[in-house]
Formats: sequence, structure tokens, C-alpha cells
Amino acid sequence: MHKKRLVEKDPELKKDDLIVITGAGGFIAGNLALYFQKKGFTRIRAVDKKPLYEWYLKVPGVENICLDVSDETNCHRVCEGAVEVYNLAADMGGMGFIERFRVECLRSILVNTHMIEAAYKAGARRYFFSSSACAYNTLLQQKPEVLALKESDAYPAMAERGYGWEKLVSEMFCEEYWHERGMKTAIARFHNVYGPNGTWDGGREKAPAAMCRKVVAAIDSGNKDITIWGDGHQTRSFMYIDDCVLGIDKIMHEDRLIATPINLGSSELVSINELLSKVEAIAGTKLNRKYDLNAPRGVAGRNSDNTFIKEVLNWEPNTSLDHGLAATYKWISEQYHNRKQGRHVVE
Ligand code: NAD
Repeated sequence: MHKKRLVEKDPELKKDDLIVITGAGGFIAGNLALYFQKKGFTRIRAVDKKPLYEWYLKVPGVENICLDVSDETNCHRVCEGAVEVYNLAADMGGMGFIERFRVECLRSILVNTHMIEAAYKAGARRYFFSSSACAYNTLLQQKPEVLALKESDAYPAMAERGYGWEKLVSEMFCEEYWHERGMKTAIARFHNVYGPNGTWDGGREKAPAAMCRKVVAAIDSGNKDITIWGDGHQTRSFMYIDDCVLGIDKIMHEDRLIATPINLGSSELVSINELLSKVEAIAGTKLNRKYDLNAPRGVAGRNSDNTFIKEVLNWEPNTSLDHGLAATYKWISEQYHNRKQGRHVVE
């Protein structure tokens, strides 16, 4: 039996309070560590199970630790002294990964289960969990001209098999740690995040990164064919990484959002064909499109309804896809050419 905490108004977060971020060798959490370091926080502990040479970002002044946080003992070590904990560690990838490796996705339940308990036992003031639009009822997402998903659309539950169900159950942990034990938790449902310093090759990359890489490779090889997964009519919205880390900070520190799942995504809906046209325009090329109808394609359409986030935060992710894709294309092009020249890059 655990006692419910007496919930008080938080003292102001001090710049030398310890912030713990898991999954920091990966895309979003690495960028989050950089965001807090730039904001002037001096004690950031970044954790990932990957060896350091595989991290996208090693932020100067940040304590980088290689540990597997699906292990309970490691979680206690990681959360020691933490004032805030941001848990973004998860085994994940684009559709190709989450449709094929459901067991790996489900096993991320161990990460959140142990991390939230360790954060609670360490007396952390706030705990953040990165959920996903894959937690939404898939039956609502069977047409490309989908209605945008609002927070209540997760129930009745029919989440994406494996990955989506893990997110939904972990959300519930966060809700109950607040209701039953009084730890302030925040839950953001990310909708496709993209940008520099993230997966761009190897099977876990998502559509924007895959498109950028394929266009760079087509130009480099002179072979003007490009393969698109599905018929290209699937629709999605894509959130630029700068909006994502800013949104995490805002959601974590808003008392009206304690233990309340909220969309964190762009509401600029595009089809996969339109996404490719944008990348082609940035690269100044036009390719011959081939469609692989047997490839994983996910739900037919998905968008973020931002009514709630606008109402509570008076803000929503607002970097245009054209702007974000230009920065992403530039970064992926550099990685591609560095790799070709034999330099060390992280894919
Ligand atoms: P990522 O794969 O780049 O980063 C996740 C990191 O977690 C990886 O570096 C991985 O090594 C690490 N990790 C996995 N299991 C671990 C463990 N047991 N111990 C320690 N580290 C572990 O993914 P990302 O895109 O940065 O995603 C971050 C979070 O956001 C994840 O929870 C993901 O499910 C969620 N999310 C991401 C998106 C997106 O579009 N990128 C969308 C929805 C939700």
C-alpha cells in the first residue's frame, strides 16, 4: 500500500533542479535534452540503452548514461534525485517496424511501469509520458478524408495492435499515479514527429525521413524511380521537432493538464503523394512514382484535432511542413553524403 501524496502547489522549477530524460539517444528525447540545456538547466540526466556512439545528440554539459530502463533496478538509479522525469524511451519505429514487431512494442510497457514507480519513489514532482496517436480507435481511421481525432476518440478502445495498446495502458498508469498516489503526471499523444537528428535509414524511419532519403539517393544515383508504400492517398499530419519539444514543456507545466491525455501534433493534413511533391520541390527534382501496394501503410487517414490544446494552452504546433521539411532534407542529405564518404553517422 502506498500513501497518496499531499498535493501542494509546486515551488518554481530551479535551473539546477535535476531533470531526467529517457530515450535520449533517440530523436525526440535527444532534442528535448538540447532544448532544456539551451533554456539554462544545468543538471540534465540523459539515459538510453544504446551505446553512446549511436546517440544522435550528445549535448554538452549533460550527464549521459547508458542503461536499460526496462530493468527496475536501473530505473531507481536513473531517477535518484530527480525533480522532473520525462520518459520517452520506447522500442518504436515507422509503420514497417510497428506492424512487424508487436512484441517489442508491447514490451515497452516494462519501461513505463518501472520508470513511473521509480519516479514516484524518488519523490519526483512531475512525470511526463510520450503517448501516441496510435492509441486512438483504428475504426475511426479507415478513410483518407478522416475527421481529425479528438482526445475522447481513444475510447471505446481499439488501438493499433501492439504499439497502440502499450501506449493506452501506460497512459492509464499515469492517470492512476495521479488519482491514487498524487504524483503529477503529463501525457501527450504525439502525431508523427519529424526533423533533423532522428532515424533516417535502417527500417525504423518514418515517412518524411524515408522520402527525403529516397529523393537524395535518387538524385545521387541518377535512377529517377521512387517507391511509395501504399497508393499514396493515405493522409497524415507531421509535427516539426521544435514544436514537439516546446509542446512537451508547455504540457508538463500546465496544472489543468495533469493526468489528462492531450494531442500534440500538427493539424496540417497532407497525403503521402503531397508529402513527396513537397520534398521534390525542395530538392528541385521530379521522380517516377511506383506504388508498392503490399508494403505496410497503416491506417488510411489520421489528423490531430487541436481544439483542446488551443483552448488550454492558447497554442498549437505551427511550423509549416514546407519549412520543417527543408531543414530535414538538408540534414538527411548531409548524413547521406557523409556516410558515402565513409564518415561515422548515426542512422
Ligand atoms: P527513437 O526510437 O528515436 O527514440 C527512442 C529511444 O528509446 C531509442 O534511442 C531507444 O534506444 C531508447 N530505448 C528503447 N527502449 C529502451 C530501454 N529499455 N532503456 C533505455 N532506452 C530505451 O524514437 P522517438 O521518435 O524519439 O520517440 C520517442 C517517444 O515518442 C517514444 O515513446 C515514441 O513511442 C513516442 N512517439 C514518437 C512519435 C514520432 O513520430 N517520432 C510519434 C508518437 C509517439
